[in-house]
Amino acid sequence: MQVILLMMPPAISEELERRLHATKAPGVECEVLHVRELERVPDLLPPGLVVVWDDGGPLEALAALCRHLDARRFFARTQLLVLTSRNAAGCEALAQSGADECLAPPGEPWGTRLVALQRRLKPRGEQSAAMSPQEFRRASLDQSFQTLMSGFSAMTGDESFRGLVAHLGSALHGMGALVGVLTEEQDKLRTLAFWSDDHFEENLSVPLTGSVHQEALYRGIFHVQEGVRARFPNDRTLQRLGTGGYLGGALRDAKGRAVGVLAVGRRESLAADRKDHVLIEAFAARAEAELERLRAEAELVQTRVFLRNFLEAVPDPIFIKDRTHRWVILNSAFARVMGLPMEKLIGKSDYDLVPAHEAALFWERDEQVFSSGQPNEHEERLTDLSGNTRIIITKKALFTVMNGEPFLIAIIRDITEARRLEMQLQLSERMASVGTLAAGVAHEINNPLAYISSNLAFLSEQLEQEGLSDRQRAEMRDAVQESLEGTRRVRLIVQDLKAFSRADDESQGPVEVHRVVQGSLRLVRNELEHRAQLTLELNTVPLVLGNESRLAQVLVNLLVNALQAFPAERPAGDNRIRIVTRTAAERVHVQVEDNGQGMTPEVQRRIFDPFFTTKPVGVGTGLGLSICNTIVQGMGGSIEVESTPGVGSTFRLNLPALVASVREPSASQKAQGPWKGPRRRVLLIDDEPAVGAAVRRLLYEFHEVHAVQDAREALQLILRGERYDAILCDVMMKGMSGVDFILELENLSPELARHTGLMSAGIFSEQARAFITERELHFLHKPFEREGLRLFVERLCG
Ligand code: ADP
Repeated sequence: MQVILLMMPPAISEELERRLHATKAPGVECEVLHVRELERVPDLLPPGLVVVWDDGGPLEALAALCRHLDARRFFARTQLLVLTSRNAAGCEALAQSGADECLAPPGEPWGTRLVALQRRLKPRGEQSAAMSPQEFRRASLDQSFQTLMSGFSAMTGDESFRGLVAHLGSALHGMGALVGVLTEEQDKLRTLAFWSDDHFEENLSVPLTGSVHQEALYRGIFHVQEGVRARFPNDRTLQRLGTGGYLGGALRDAKGRAVGVLAVGRRESLAADRKDHVLIEAFAARAEAELERLRAEAELVQTRVFLRNFLEAVPDPIFIKDRTHRWVILNSAFARVMGLPMEKLIGKSDYDLVPAHEAALFWERDEQVFSSGQPNEHEERLTDLSGNTRIIITKKALFTVMNGEPFLIAIIRDITEARRLEMQLQLSERMASVGTLAAGVAHEINNPLAYISSNLAFLSEQLEQEGLSDRQRAEMRDAVQESLEGTRRVRLIVQDLKAFSRADDESQGPVEVHRVVQGSLRLVRNELEHRAQLTLELNTVPLVLGNESRLAQVLVNLLVNALQAFPAERPAGDNRIRIVTRTAAERVHVQVEDNGQGMTPEVQRRIFDPFFTTKPVGVGTGLGLSICNTIVQGMGGSIEVESTPGVGSTFRLNLPALVASVREPSASQKAQGPWKGPRRRVLLIDDEPAVGAAVRRLLYEFHEVHAVQDAREALQLILRGERYDAILCDVMMKGMSGVDFILELENLSPELARHTGLMSAGIFSEQARAFITERELHFLHKPFEREGLRLFVERLCG
């Protein structure tokens, strides 16, 4: 017999244990368990004694404990004793809550009480002498139903099946009970719990054919009052246990198919009336519910495994985030992208793993999906913990689960390698264009070079002569002027060519659209002059943000396409190309129109596809427009096309303006001719001394230029009280940069900072670019000419 002493002061529990051993009935072994915490009480209390100590706390708490224990015990086999000194009303309340006995703490009458209790327990399920069989059975049935409804309904799995068979056996006074299910082959019954003679047996599989359970399965309910062993001689379990009476019920699945058996057996005869049938059916229903729950659980596990395998089979990275933007599910492809094992990502958000500016962007794009419910797709940069940056395209969409909770699913495509190849291709395409244009450019360079060299020869001859006449001096002045003009043209052509072949693809900066238009025209000038009439309608437009050489590449492509669209036989005088620039809704439009052969709608639909061409091999590659499109999109713009076969085509670049409004040059700025404005003091900061000297020389006539090579020195001058009307500062310098200089100057003299402009040869950092854009700073491209420089300084002084 097992005795559990629950939450008892050590002195008392030791005393009790001693007395139990001293007074135990002959032949009864006592196993005493001291349990100090309620959590350690087994879910199913074993047959025997459970002794509870009343520590004098609230009666209701003690009654609740009794109810709790009552629900977990074997009926008629577990006695619940409370050691208490409460009065009669208190003891009554505890008895109502399930206590079988309320005893005063150990004293003299104890030993006798224990012996009495042990005796009461000894018959173990045999009819109690104190009750009539009918009374006892009715009490057991009621208790059984009550237990079914409350007690072990909270238990699941094995524990629940064990509870079922133990309670069923106990309620029907059987010596054994079992619950079993058919094996997959349907030829055996596999027990889920098997209780016999007060203990649980190991689970086993028994052959179905010839067994008593086959009848129960077949009939639904099967009862043999006595002699069951003789009726089923092949049922080895019946033989082994010496079963006489049997009551079994079939367990059915949700579709009504018999899938198992719940049965109770007795050595003696087992009389079962309608109530017992109801009881076994009720227990069977409970077992069926549990089987169904297990099936659903197994299905859930299967679904989970299915989902996981599915996610793993997708080669692209996938993740699911909850409403707090945390990853809840992801596949290994995504874990690889992030460079961390899966379990380290679950529960984390972007902010835990990627640089804050990237995380902020991802967060914002997640939020768009969560709040609008609309999917989105973006190309973005993703930097992992080791600092490796990838270019990815992320598609995100929203879905909700049954309780309405929203989740975000994202599929990522890593295009880092594709983008690298594309850049290589763009570069080689550009180099190829340079090659085809080189002949035209060489022609362009040779013209000015021809007269520069002849002028210089003339000058050197003239210099040999003494006593020059006024006419000779005038001619020499002209020769020098012409040569200067020639060098200017050579410089422009070389500069265009350099810009065109430059590989610094990522450098972005303010781009003067007209400068690019003029540069592109110079590159195709030769071809253009012979093939078409050109009209320019260049309206004042703001700067755009991008890369000058790339935009030039786009325009050259459009111009070459236009030139190639003219019918071969038509005279050049009838071929027309018109270039228009204008501003529309904070965007700059650059339009290239031709009156060439035009395009059919089918051709138009495909022109941006890579490798789509209608031109013969060797003439067209089909890459031009697809690359143009990528470049323009990279600038945040788009290309629109209108075309009519036989009439002509219009390609319109739609580019976002860098600043909302363009600063119109003032009347004085537009005016040409001798300078009549005031002479200003200009501070020039450039670490290249030659630039300082050149600016001083160029502006000498108009302004006083003070050149320094260090921005700190410039700050010192201003601190010392030197006054300037304008400052012109290089962006990239050794020591203090142009941006840092302006930041310092804003503290020192905000007014002067407003009259400060930056200049650069075009390549500068991302931060510098953002700084110039945000503050709408005046910006001058190097190299510059005198007139451009003068106008710029004028604007600064403004
Ligand atoms: P390619 O010029 O090498 O063929 P593109 O991508 O530049 O490649 O152009 C794709 C196609 O678009 C051309 O083959 C041509 O059919 C059509 N196309 C482009 N520009 C024009 C134009 N201005 N007029 C008529 N068709 C054009």
